[in-house]
Amino acid sequence: MAKINDHYQKLTAGYLFPEIARRVAAFTETNPEADVIKLGIGDVTRPLPPAVVDAFHAGVDEMASADTFRGYGPEQGHLFLRELIAANDYASRGVSVDPDEIFVSDGAKCDCGNIQEIFSTECKVAVADPVYPVYIDTNVMAGRSGPADDEGRYEGIHYMPCTEENGFQPDIPSEPVDLIYLCSPNNPTGTVATAEQLTRWVEYARGCGAIILFDAAYEAYVSDPGLPRSIYEIDGAREVAIEFRSFSKTAGFTGTRCAFIVVPRELRGKNTAGEEVSIHQLWSRRHSTKFNGASYPVQCAAAGIYTDEGKAQVKELIDFYMENARIIREGLSASGYAVYGGIHSPYSWLRIPGARSSWEFFELLLETTHIVGTPGSGFGPSGEGYFRLSAFGDRERIEEAIERIRDKLPAD
Ligand SMILES: *Cc1c(COP(=O)(O)O)cnc(C)c1O
Repeated sequence: MAKINDHYQKLTAGYLFPEIARRVAAFTETNPEADVIKLGIGDVTRPLPPAVVDAFHAGVDEMASADTFRGYGPEQGHLFLRELIAANDYASRGVSVDPDEIFVSDGAKCDCGNIQEIFSTECKVAVADPVYPVYIDTNVMAGRSGPADDEGRYEGIHYMPCTEENGFQPDIPSEPVDLIYLCSPNNPTGTVATAEQLTRWVEYARGCGAIILFDAAYEAYVSDPGLPRSIYEIDGAREVAIEFRSFSKTAGFTGTRCAFIVVPRELRGKNTAGEEVSIHQLWSRRHSTKFNGASYPVQCAAAGIYTDEGKAQVKELIDFYMENARIIREGLSASGYAVYGGIHSPYSWLRIPGARSSWEFFELLLETTHIVGTPGSGFGPSGEGYFRLSAFGDRERIEEAIERIRDKLPAD
């Protein structure tokens, strides 16, 4: 019999969202008349912007005609899209990223999960706690950890607790680490790192030879122009950081699938012989060996974001979700909850009143208000005692949700 990868068996209980779905299904079965409002899952709800749809259609039409049909494209992504990304996402903010350093893919989840492959299994990994589960689980699968303890912490992984005490910003590790996953604006806490905080990370990484894996999937939600949207806005970051971006939350691409990563040419790792190796070259080799490029019409659709109309429509989309976030944040505060995030992020992170656990509050909220949220403990042990509410949804439903909480479950 074929031997399996034992590391997979270290993974703790099922994924968070299936468990939520199971509990909601059980609730609606016994309460079929309940009008349930879902503010749990991190998925967008508004359709693709018209400029994106037009560009998408044009790409499909090209595929439908013998003159313009295209087969395999470049694995790294079409140059037209990489040039638009370099100009609009980076040069416009004074950051120099060459189109050649951009790798287009079908999602930041895969990129965040795949990146660890080009590093040694001996690398020490640091992650924020709570965290987007992909960073940890993919390192566990690869064998960079021991088993999980009772609270779900894997042996050998360096956890960086993010709580009210440190303003939900991870502290610099007290032990040497090799790979540091950072996410700002953060999922799940909704908080954002300042330039000073990111500067400390870049200096730390430069000092100890670590590499920062910076997930900027929510950068479009940063509403203060003074806050960094890219790690490369920090001096010296090109030598120590890889950046992950996605069109999913920016432009409603969760079902359309397009993302990219930036791997600067300066970035170096070390092989067993102690020689310096280009990380860009390694990733290029990996990407072109295991990936055959994102769909052409999808890349055309992504390019549609960068037209004048596209930019205006994307801004409108983000503004819509951010108004939802404001309604959630201010409504909950008015009902006595301590709320974090929700200003530069679609996620609000609330402190659960009393001594309830995250799952107890999940059940209480569902039973008394028929609202579904996400238990903080599902994102890591330090998320215990917190709860995530998402601003992705219909305006009326969110207003209704906030009224229900005010009337039926105020914190004070
Ligand atoms: C949604 C999300 C992504 C984007 O994933 P895609 O695969 O591009 O849809 C990446 N990182 C975080 C933290 C996210 O929440």
